[in-house]
Amino acid sequence: MDPFFTEKQRLFRQEVRAFAKKELTPFAEAAEETETFPMELWKILGQSGYLGIRFPEEYGGMGEGLVSYCIFIEEMNRVSAGLTAGIGLQAGMATLPVYLFGNEDQRQQWLVPAIRGEKVSAFALTEPGAGSDAANIACTAKREGDDYVINGTKLFITNGGIADFVVVAAKTDPSKGVKGITLLVVEKGTSGFAVVRKLRKMATRGSETAELSFKDCRVPGRNRLGQEGVGFVNLMKSLNEGRLSCAASALGIAHSAFNEALNYAKRRKAFGKSIGALGAIQSYLANMSMDIEAGRLLTYNGAWMADQEQEYTKEASWAKLYTSEMVQRVANKAVQVFGGYGFIRDYAVERHYREARLWEIVEGTSEIQRLIIARNLGLK
Ligand SMILES: Cc1cc2nc3c(=O)[nH]c(=O)nc-3n(C[C@H](O)[C@H](O)[C@H](O)COP(=O)(O)OP(=O)(O)OC[C@H]3O[C@@H](n4cnc5c(N)ncnc54)[C@H](O)[C@@H]3O)c2cc1C
Repeated sequence: MDPFFTEKQRLFRQEVRAFAKKELTPFAEAAEETETFPMELWKILGQSGYLGIRFPEEYGGMGEGLVSYCIFIEEMNRVSAGLTAGIGLQAGMATLPVYLFGNEDQRQQWLVPAIRGEKVSAFALTEPGAGSDAANIACTAKREGDDYVINGTKLFITNGGIADFVVVAAKTDPSKGVKGITLLVVEKGTSGFAVVRKLRKMATRGSETAELSFKDCRVPGRNRLGQEGVGFVNLMKSLNEGRLSCAASALGIAHSAFNEALNYAKRRKAFGKSIGALGAIQSYLANMSMDIEAGRLLTYNGAWMADQEQEYTKEASWAKLYTSEMVQRVANKAVQVFGGYGFIRDYAVERHYREARLWEIVEGTSEIQRLIIARNLGLK
């Protein structure tokens, strides 16, 4: 028995596993090759209901908690980390601020169609000059009458080039530092909003990542999510969820790399026996299985605590930090088990090795996770 999952969640895992295999597999390889997200997938996702796992049924969601969300992210990543990077963003970080801080009209305008897969969303905090130091963003939103006029550049924005709306963090009062940051929704086609370029990545190429620019981009005051100046504080509330989502992504990739390596070890022969009978390979696989299990326990412990409405900041950082480093160890050894074939692009472990690198960087680097954990240990 697994203490973190209810019977319903165990069944949910099976359903998502079957869904990911059936619906993501046909698109996954081409998306990685062309570095293009298949837009027809949004309709399939919208019909599945999975884009609304975290949101109440009244908005078309499933009303489930973070454990279910992490199960979804983990299972989807087992099939395609590239596609799931864009999908997870849509089902989480980009829509969560609309639900948490938006009013009823805003939820109807952006959240409901996003859950249905009819509108694609993005979330834009990072800039060329500010990533970890997010409080230092330079993008401004100046109040002019009932409108806001946005100026600035956003970098590394997942779904940025394909989004119908982007949740943008901008400074409405630069003199107030973090207390001057406000969240605004910018819709595609708004004058002054442009996609500068699609970024070419090491991996997870099935999701599209872009640089966005805002030049005298005017949005109405009704596009503001929450009050002026509370954007940063509000974002911090949703970051823990994002960290567990990263942990679940890393877990899914690690599982895939491990399964590939285990199966290969059973069938590859060297010196008259399967390499899985060799002590060196056995010890790799033994360590990989243990490492994954440790990451799994940390991830679902954090998600379970969130669902019990317990404080889980430290636990979210533990999970994110551990799994993002774990997946690199596991993917590295998976390539080793494959020998020369592991270096060739015909085999999934080559892709997993590259995919594994992302999770230590996004949603707070490992260095930042260690800072958060240290702060939660009372160290200033
Ligand atoms: C594929 C991809 C998708 C992304 N998607 C999005 C998105 O959708 N929306 C969005 O807003 N952002 C997104 N990001 C941005 C991502 O969150 C940032 O890259 C990340 O926060 C790190 O910021 P940075 O790249 O500016 O690195 P920096 O902050 O410049 O960090 C550089 C190095 O310095 C270290 N460092 C910085 N500060 C400290 C400190 N105080 N103590 C110790 N070490 C420190 C970092 O850990 C890192 O090793 C994405 C990035 C990638 C690569």
